[in-house]
Amino acid sequence: MTRISELLSAGRTYSFEFFPPKSDQEQLVLSKTLLELQPLGPSFVSVTYRGGAESRRRTQNLVTGMLHTSTLVPMAHLVCVAHSRLELAEFLVSLRRAGIENVLALGGDSSPDPGAPPRELEYAVELVELARAIGGFSIGVAAHPAGHPSSRELSADRDRLVEKLSLADFAITQFFFEADEYFGLVSDLAERSMRKPVLPGIMPVTRLSSIPRMARMGAAVPPWMVERLEAAAETGGDEAVVRCGVELATDLCRTLLEGGAPGLHFYTLNRSSATRDIYRALGLAPQLSGARADTA
Ligand code: FAD
Repeated sequence: MTRISELLSAGRTYSFEFFPPKSDQEQLVLSKTLLELQPLGPSFVSVTYRGGAESRRRTQNLVTGMLHTSTLVPMAHLVCVAHSRLELAEFLVSLRRAGIENVLALGGDSSPDPGAPPRELEYAVELVELARAIGGFSIGVAAHPAGHPSSRELSADRDRLVEKLSLADFAITQFFFEADEYFGLVSDLAERSMRKPVLPGIMPVTRLSSIPRMARMGAAVPPWMVERLEAAAETGGDEAVVRCGVELATDLCRTLLEGGAPGLHFYTLNRSSATRDIYRALGLAPQLSGARADTA
């Protein structure tokens, strides 16, 4: 198994995020996507988690399945919501026993499980402390280029991020659309003497209908991009929107890499085509390495 902190020390990482399937149909889609993305040689892959017993089972099954049946380096997301401290400790111990060495420690938003206990850990930093106390993990945290949506003051949000990141190994950002947002975040951290790697999260906009949801998540698509995507829709329909969204995301990735970003983290939504198109346009695939050598 490989720790992400070690991969980041060795060079840039390129990673993909998936969510655990909830039905046979979703499982088929994910299996096909994994087959298509694995040849790109991602440095690591991450699996989301919503909190609660059912979600835990799904996330744990997917990361351990990846570990034992592929060359992928998996990272499990963990959230504070819907668990007692003891349950979270038990989950971390069972991940370690299963051979998982990478976790993304998150606050989480809400649990879909109505019977779940109230959260005992309030902030992600407490989950980082717990994972450190258990030991053996490379630990990532979330960063929000525009500030967390619930934060009233950007500078206080940055201070909190520094506290959290000083205990963790790296951060992955919420998706965003303009390179300056990322570079602004990195420079704010540097001003606070924090230089741990911050991986930019990339989410191409491939449907006009997803724009309002992205804004609700605190990552509004800028007006100039909305105009370009709408113009594409008018002239070429849905396919032109996908092409335009991929082009815009490719330009963003290029600027981020040229500006020194330590890698790219793709929110795949369990689909492969946009990520593959961006890789192709950036000429990335042949240079990639870092997948586990010990094929199981
Ligand atoms: P925190 O670090 O706890 O911060 C939340 C808010 O509290 C911020 O406003 C912060 O400024 C403030 N704060 C932090 N510490 C303190 C403190 N000590 N005192 C006072 N205020 C404080 N959600 C899921 O449910 N499942 C997932 O799998 C998932 N994956 C994600 C992956 C990435 C890369 C990212 C960027 C987000 C992901 N999320 C996921 C969403 C995340 O859970 C939400 O954004 C959540 O609202 C905040 O998480 P956080 O880890 O940033 O929280």
